[in-house]
Amino acid sequence: MTPAIETIGLKKRYGSHPAIHDLDIAVEPGTVFGLIGPNGAGKTTTLRMLLDIIRPSSGQARVLGLDPRGGGPALRRRIGYVPGELRLEGRIRGRGLLRHYAEISGTIAPKAVEDLADRLGLDLNRQVRMLSKGNKQKLGLIQAFMHRPELLILDEPTSGLDPLVQREFLEMVREARMRGQTVLLSSHVLSEIQQTADHVAVLSGGRIVAEGAVASLRLGQIRHVRMSLDRADPDAIRVELAAIPGLRDVSITGEGETRVTATLDGDIDPLAKLFARYRVTDLVVEEPDLEESVLQLYGNSPGNARGKGVNRG
Ligand code: ATP
Repeated sequence: MTPAIETIGLKKRYGSHPAIHDLDIAVEPGTVFGLIGPNGAGKTTTLRMLLDIIRPSSGQARVLGLDPRGGGPALRRRIGYVPGELRLEGRIRGRGLLRHYAEISGTIAPKAVEDLADRLGLDLNRQVRMLSKGNKQKLGLIQAFMHRPELLILDEPTSGLDPLVQREFLEMVREARMRGQTVLLSSHVLSEIQQTADHVAVLSGGRIVAEGAVASLRLGQIRHVRMSLDRADPDAIRVELAAIPGLRDVSITGEGETRVTATLDGDIDPLAKLFARYRVTDLVVEEPDLEESVLQLYGNSPGNARGKGVNRG
């Protein structure tokens, strides 16, 4: 099947600064592809090249089978795009702005705009200049989704959204996928990629340092755990924790209240069963940040990254 998006040796330099090096990605139709990476990794640059907002220095891109340079408005209508930095100003109201976008993007199902606004909790009667950052972002999402495009290219789409709205957005992405739409989603939040994407590529310094099916990458199995246990014997706890598979970097401090910190790479159930035998006064389970997970999973060399868990379809 022809990929919905394909890049071959795509490169971008800003003056003498190389932003993207030889990018090769393929996004299969009807899937959600997560592009994740720290600030400055090159996510926005990549997405802008796919939309022909900026031009590559060399290499090729195909979007829905076409070269973005020659695709023009007909190709743009088949794509819904949320830019990373959404600037919406002016006295126009949300509804009016979306009507204007609808003239460009083509047919929209009746009530589609209202339904999306309801789901995201956006008042379409407010002037866009009066909207908060999060509400402007909702308007950006509505204009991308409202015409049910074949392809959604979403650059950090949840920035500024509160957790409930983020959850609704993730549901919208899952529904789009069920309808057969393709989604390319950039993010620096690991959990939202894990919850929605079939395939993930980790971009760092303009290069893909890890790539594969989300399940095979096991991203997010590593967790930092902090807990406080009332009246627990630190020595006994130490012995019990030593028997938990995948638990490392264990530190045990305190008297009366015993504080434990550790890193868990594996199943959380044995640890949860251990806590259950104590009076737990505090418990925090955190995902490591992206960079840490990637380095832990793939070793410190980007060269190690590709190939492990890789499933390039
Ligand atoms: P963020 O998560 O912070 O949005 P990003 O992954 O989207 O980051 P890009 O915005 O694509 O990263 O930036 C990639 C690199 O290119 C960075 O080093 C950035 O400083 C540089 N860059 C981006 N736009 C320009 C520009 N117009 N001129 C010069 N350098 C740029």
